Amino acid sequence: MIPELTHFIHGRRVPGTSGDFGDVFDPNTGAVQARVPLAGRAETEAAIADAEEAQLEWAAWNPQRRARVLLRFLDLAQREMDSLARLLASEHGKTIPDAKGDIQRGLEVVEFAAGVPHLLKGEFTDAAGTGIDVHSLRQPLGVVAGITPFNFPAMIPLWKAAPALACGNAFVLKPSERDPSVPLRLAELFIEAGLPAGVLNVVNGGKEAVDTLLTDPRIAAVGFVGSTPIAEYIYSTAAAHGKRAQCFGGAKNHMVIMPDADLDQVADALIGAGYGSAGERCMAISVAVPVGEETAEALVEKLMPRVAALRIGPSHDETADFGPLVTRDALNRVRDYIQIGVDEGAKLLVDGRDFTLPGYEDGFFIGGSLFDHVKPGSRIHREEIFGPVLSIVRAANYEEALRLPSEHEFGNGVAIFTRDGDTARDFSRRVNTGMVGVNVPIPVPIAYHTFGGWKRSGFGDLNQHGPDSIRFYTKTKTVTSRWPSGVKEGASFVIPTMS
Ligand code: NAD
Repeated sequence: MIPELTHFIHGRRVPGTSGDFGDVFDPNTGAVQARVPLAGRAETEAAIADAEEAQLEWAAWNPQRRARVLLRFLDLAQREMDSLARLLASEHGKTIPDAKGDIQRGLEVVEFAAGVPHLLKGEFTDAAGTGIDVHSLRQPLGVVAGITPFNFPAMIPLWKAAPALACGNAFVLKPSERDPSVPLRLAELFIEAGLPAGVLNVVNGGKEAVDTLLTDPRIAAVGFVGSTPIAEYIYSTAAAHGKRAQCFGGAKNHMVIMPDADLDQVADALIGAGYGSAGERCMAISVAVPVGEETAEALVEKLMPRVAALRIGPSHDETADFGPLVTRDALNRVRDYIQIGVDEGAKLLVDGRDFTLPGYEDGFFIGGSLFDHVKPGSRIHREEIFGPVLSIVRAANYEEALRLPSEHEFGNGVAIFTRDGDTARDFSRRVNTGMVGVNVPIPVPIAYHTFGGWKRSGFGDLNQHGPDSIRFYTKTKTVTSRWPSGVKEGASFVIPTMS
């Protein structure tokens, strides 16, 4: 019997009733390890109605009391770190240490959101006019929804849920149907931490559940992370239904390597950022841009043996550099892209397609691949592969290197490796990308700064976590008040001015 997963509504696990199910695989073996219910419209609407009812009381709690729930949740999640990481790795395929990183980066945003009493403080102007004071307050939106991708099944739901809940909203999460078990467990831990039932509901599903969230008038805002075509669809549909939306999409992150960079450091950085988590990270480096032929030749010499020697193992092998891809479809897509690269004339220096792991022949494994002489504008330069494939695009000089990420349709992250402060500063200021690393390959900003890509990597205003998240999950009300003593002295018929 294949275990059947559930939804999580009103503080408990609830079986699906639509009759539709998706397969959750064990990427190590290729076997189906669970069936996830795919909610229909009626189930999704019931989750929204439940959240709407719970939200009013939750919003009436004072912010400090709400923050205490988050603090208790942090304790519970830390205590369960090992089992959460094992569960996450078993559905996603990433290694256990990497799964812990996924959870930890999510918890850091919960820590940030626990500061919500301070973050929600409004503004006040005393005596804006004679006897007139003005103050602004931030109020919750109501019920908000999160639609999240497979590749960070703990981090991204927490990036969205923690600030939303802290601000007094109820949250309906539609996690990825590929690895839904950790989001379900996190919801249980929130209840154990004291969150009232209904304030966080998890609806598993696909398009029908998503479309219900996008069109239901009770949902005030939608936070999405996933691939660009879906991000664009979510953004336009949510906006057409009068909702706030912030939708983050795909990426093609470049790393520019200047001739003065320390190439051993660069090789270490590229191996980690290009191949960690099998390249299934939106901030993975997928394009290396060495500046000048000498830099390119020296870099290739350092990278080739390192890529060929990558250790690939099952997700529970703590010594593996990376594990399997998430599904067979993902594996086939990456294999197809490698063939496209070959057909486009790029030079395949290391071919990961031949890799098999003894004992795990049906798992979704692929070795690391390395392309050199990738042409700017070719498909493997333009499109997101989302696998352990690094492309080298050689640039003749700095300006050419700067143009490659700047003119690319995606604008999530970018990095430059150099010893020269002036080059780094010029690059950081001019590059047309949302997040920049200077000698840092994966510049994911810490929780109290904000995370967001530009161009076709992000649709909508305001970034994730940090102060932007508090703005996104609240609406501002501005109160202008006067307490006149002489109200009986007569009406004024002109527009009041602040004289
Ligand atoms: P995806 O777009 O396939 O799925 C994301 C979510 O959308 C899932 O919950 C899924 O169920 C839902 N969905 C999928 N198809 C849909 C449809 N037709 N209609 C409505 N909903 C639909 O993405 P994924 O494969 O889960 O995740 C990988 C992608 O996410 C990559 O492109 C990666 O770059 C991107 N990503 C971006 C960021 C970022 O911050 N920019 C972070 C992580 C991942």
